[in-house]
Amino acid sequence: MSTIFSQIVEGEIPARIVYEDETTIAFLDANPLAPGHTLVIPKDEYERLNDVPEDVATDLYATVHRMVPAVEESVDADATTVAFNNGEEAGQEVPHVHCHIVPRFQGDGGGPIHGLFGGPADLADDKLDDIAADIESRA
Ligand code: AMP
Repeated sequence: MSTIFSQIVEGEIPARIVYEDETTIAFLDANPLAPGHTLVIPKDEYERLNDVPEDVATDLYATVHRMVPAVEESVDADATTVAFNNGEEAGQEVPHVHCHIVPRFQGDGGGPIHGLFGGPADLADDKLDDIAADIESRA
């Protein structure tokens, strides 16, 4: 069964589409966290960023890059929080990769992404060295 976002791509359900090209599409979030809250997705269905092929990832970022200033200017935002909930445990509800562009305003009380966590993880230097080496070997 296709995701709700694929149904938007196919025109099967309505959405406020604000940009579309061959491989990507952007539309307003149906439950906006702020005016102008926009989602950018690849038209093809990939559940997570990890699943997106490199050429589609390039197109996806190009659309994010295009939409951030468009969204900010349209609602006169001071800034934007740009984020992916990448995987269910990270809060992803729709299993079709999507980038949130959420306009931010001075004093909106939203805080930074760091606010998702109670504070920094307590990790010793040698543990951090191991993690860095392991990530580097996979990059
Ligand atoms: P996430 O939790 O990252 O998976 O976010 C999914 C987002 O999709 C939420 O912010 C929803 O408000 C939004 N959403 C769900 N259904 C629709 C829809 N039909 N049109 C636009 N946005 C939607």
